[in-house]
Amino acid sequence: MYDSSIGGPLLWPADEPWPHCHGPHDWDLLTDEWNPDALDPSQSLADAKLTRYDPEPWRDIGDVPNAMLPVAQLFTRDVPGLRPPPGKDLLQILWCPVDHDDVMPKTTLVWRTAADVTDVLRAAPVPSAAEYGYDYIPFPCKLDPEPIVEYPTDFDELGEESLEQMRQWASREHIAIDPDDVKSWFVSNVCVSPGWKVGGHIRWGTTDPYPQPCPTCGTGTESLLTVASSEWDAATHSWIPYEDQALADDYSTTVGPRVTIARGYNMILRICPTSPDHPHIQLMQ
Ligand SMILES: [Zn+2]
Ligand SMILES: [Zn+2]
Repeated sequence: MYDSSIGGPLLWPADEPWPHCHGPHDWDLLTDEWNPDALDPSQSLADAKLTRYDPEPWRDIGDVPNAMLPVAQLFTRDVPGLRPPPGKDLLQILWCPVDHDDVMPKTTLVWRTAADVTDVLRAAPVPSAAEYGYDYIPFPCKLDPEPIVEYPTDFDELGEESLEQMRQWASREHIAIDPDDVKSWFVSNVCVSPGWKVGGHIRWGTTDPYPQPCPTCGTGTESLLTVASSEWDAATHSWIPYEDQALADDYSTTVGPRVTIARGYNMILRICPTSPDHPHIQLMQ
């Protein structure tokens, strides 16, 4: 019953308190509101998101604790690239589905041992507020993860000879690339995949790459999860899974979890390789 998923449900112990976010929430924050008791019991929040796109009424959630929402549940049996703390085999990620100081939802990570959860929480608390447009309510997706290979993007260290090899490869493959745009074509189509992913490289875009040290010990952090606003776009067709290629021209608006970060960016969660007790960091690109 409990699978690796986006948008829940989570394998959560019945006797463990559900995480709530205590902010700080911006006093000027305007959010969608719904009355959980008024929801059709047969509807999930994601159903409500699809059927009730209603920007009113507004309200200010202030410092009211907000129940966090399941974002990702990843079992190591499905995602062997995860590096859990000793004895753990399940990662659960939740977020408070409103913007915080960094203009992103605030996330929390929970590592656990799946076999320890025998008495499962049946009904998770529902957030009392979510960001406008329900942008941060993932459409539930069962995961069928696929390993992929990515490459670093520091092409500036590659000489003209390597670039010429790339041009020749593209020519042999009958791929039309602007000769002056070889680097960006390879970054988009070969090096860094778009979409939700575990690990891998960052699609830098809003800024140039910059170091991401652990705030506790200074060790360089590693990407854990990328939350993407789309699974692909016009520049990244090469990454579309074979089974989704018929949908290619929909530009992913109707596939995947349908989360939108800041109108179209990615949110990357990064963790310290030294200790799971060190706080994770999140950045937007
Ligand atoms: Zn919050
Ligand atoms: Zn650290």
